[in-house]
Amino acid sequence: MPLSNSQYDTIIREYQVRQIENQHAVDNRMREVYGKDERLKSIDDAISSCSVVQARKLLSGDVTALSKLRRQLSDFKQQRLDILKELGYSEHYFEPSYECPDCKDTGYIENERCHCFQQRAIDLVYTQSNIRSILKNENFEAFSYDFYSETDSNPATGLTSLETIQNAVSDCRKFIEEFDVSFSNLFFYGDTGVGKTFLSNCVAKELLDTGHSVIYFTAFQLFDILKRNNFYKTTEEDMIAAHQNIFECDLLIIDDLGTELPNSFTVSQLFLCLNERMLRKKSTIISTNLTINQVAEIYSERTFSRISSSYIMLKLFGDDIRIQKKLR
Ligand SMILES: [Zn+2]
Repeated sequence: MPLSNSQYDTIIREYQVRQIENQHAVDNRMREVYGKDERLKSIDDAISSCSVVQARKLLSGDVTALSKLRRQLSDFKQQRLDILKELGYSEHYFEPSYECPDCKDTGYIENERCHCFQQRAIDLVYTQSNIRSILKNENFEAFSYDFYSETDSNPATGLTSLETIQNAVSDCRKFIEEFDVSFSNLFFYGDTGVGKTFLSNCVAKELLDTGHSVIYFTAFQLFDILKRNNFYKTTEEDMIAAHQNIFECDLLIIDDLGTELPNSFTVSQLFLCLNERMLRKKSTIISTNLTINQVAEIYSERTFSRISSSYIMLKLFGDDIRIQKKLR
């Protein structure tokens, strides 16, 4: 993912701060435990001087002295463990608690950027840290079927509102499970308040949690970025990076398609965006209140044919959940 120098520096600084905080936390815990039993400090000192001696012996090729030192070292470690146990501490008490255990909060795994770095870059570029707090509440654990009727059915499919959402959830689960091995896209449509955005947030959360890069946009925000890039021919590094990420992130979510006041620019840009992502085999989720016919009419047949041929079309229906929640 391309980043400008200043964006890169910002992220690296965040990692450095986290590493320093981690070190402070570990130091504090050490101090706390040393205060409870003074033998620990002297054992730790002995362990470190023993290690230094061991390294020297190793360098001078002294094998017998080395094995003696090793035994000593393991004795010290055992004594240390016993005291900690006596005091009621786990041996892991001194280990830092990493936000990302995969890269130990360094942002890198063997010179490659960690998934947490990639997502941090997206969060920074699109200032979408607000999505994090939304995803705390909108995820599969919080998903409720209570708002879907067991009796109202869709005449076109014969399925009730509850059966429809159950099928949609299982399609979403499959989409997530197969995300890394088979390329597919989701298209949610249906009336306002039937759970389209909620469901795409559920998918976003699962994929973020498994280290994928996800960008969430309302259609309005997406076209705004595309417009700034096209019309003003920006030379600003940050903007160019932002534009490129739209085509490169693992999952792009375009929420509320149709609320952006469509015009010839948005129509052609949507085609380019969806087409480009398909060529790169990068998945997209679209949600809209528009009907299928309206999508075809507004965004042209060629865009619609791309969507209908490569997206799983999920029509949700039911009563407006937002209104139901207010009435409760
Ligand atoms: Zn990481």
